[in-house]
Amino acid sequence: MDLLEYQGKQLFARHGLRVSDGRVASTVQEAVEAAAEVGYPVVVKAQVLIGGRGKAGGVKLAGDEAAVREHAGDILGMDIRGHVVRKLWIEHASDIASEYYAAVLLDRSAKQPLLMFSTEGGMDIEEVAEKTPEKLVRHHVDALEGLSRAEAVDVATRGGADADVIEQVADALLALYEVWLAEDATLAEINPLIVTPEREVRALDSKVSLDGNALYRHPENQGLSDVENIDPIERRAKEQGVQYVALDGDIGILGNGAGLVMSTLDVVARAGGRPANFLDAGGGSDAEKVKQAVELILSNENVKAVLFNIFGGITRCDEVARGLIAAFADLGAGGQSIPFVVRLDGTNDVEGRRLLEEAALPNVHPAATMNEAAEKVVALARGARS
Ligand code: GDP
Ligand code: MN
Repeated sequence: MDLLEYQGKQLFARHGLRVSDGRVASTVQEAVEAAAEVGYPVVVKAQVLIGGRGKAGGVKLAGDEAAVREHAGDILGMDIRGHVVRKLWIEHASDIASEYYAAVLLDRSAKQPLLMFSTEGGMDIEEVAEKTPEKLVRHHVDALEGLSRAEAVDVATRGGADADVIEQVADALLALYEVWLAEDATLAEINPLIVTPEREVRALDSKVSLDGNALYRHPENQGLSDVENIDPIERRAKEQGVQYVALDGDIGILGNGAGLVMSTLDVVARAGGRPANFLDAGGGSDAEKVKQAVELILSNENVKAVLFNIFGGITRCDEVARGLIAAFADLGAGGQSIPFVVRLDGTNDVEGRRLLEEAALPNVHPAATMNEAAEKVVALARGARS
């Protein structure tokens, strides 16, 4: 779950990282009021879940009210690589002497937290890592011991932070590690971490991702996901307790069990198709749940064909068939224009297939194996006859 800049900064402040005073604004008028409160000059910043806002024109300095009006008006509604700006962060502007970079993330291959620091902040850190890797210090933290002050000082020193701010940079690194650990973040990044001409170290930007599965431990963070532009179908699925992830293809997928759904995505891709979603109907799905899942899949307008891949265990194939039949009944006399390929195997599969055959649903095609099902659905999505 990715956070907007200002939300990340709220978490930073909670753990003692220095940030600038700022306010959220959704209209030009609110932006003007916010600027008056934090004091000029201010920075008007687009709040979208994507980086590179500065280059895209989504970060602008404003010295007076007229400038705030102009920039807020320009930035609100702006489309930054597919993200429409609905919120601004108005922050008291900082003078900048240096721009550093700092991040804590989970290094999955090393199975350890990774602390990174560089004095080449403000720019694309991937570029720094690629072209001048010696300028990016990488330090694995012992998860049980935690990050010590001595380690943080060492990282700041090796990274080449100015001598007079080493202690402050170390404080920032310790606080950032604390944010990552205490908030169950998967990523906590500051770019840039600035040094002001007055030699004060401060986070000027934030990029924080929280672990959605750990959110139950942080009731105070639960509201943060609401501002995200979650896919509306994903939101509905969440409310219904269905595991659904939107993808960008045109073949709707339903399976039972995350592993089976993952391999179904692979098989469809190998057959030359592009899945429109991941949907795990879960174990023991009853007819009602299957019906809901069909509705979710079909509410995506891109879907041209649907693949049902069920391996019955706890889930009974006859229940799945009943759900599909009920869903089709609800679709009404207008009929079902989207073809379904259905593979039922396992518990009560014979009964399930018999029910489907009896119902004689238009546009429902049985398949005996997963590969056959994938090939059929890809052909149907292409408009070919199976
Ligand atoms: P990003 O482009 O999405 O990473 O947005 P940032 O928040 O990092 O802002 C982009 C750039 O704008 C920063 O690297 C700074 O150079 C500049 N910037 C942001 N805030 C301020 C500020 O308070 N004062 C000054 N002088 N520049 C700022
Ligand atoms: Mn940035």
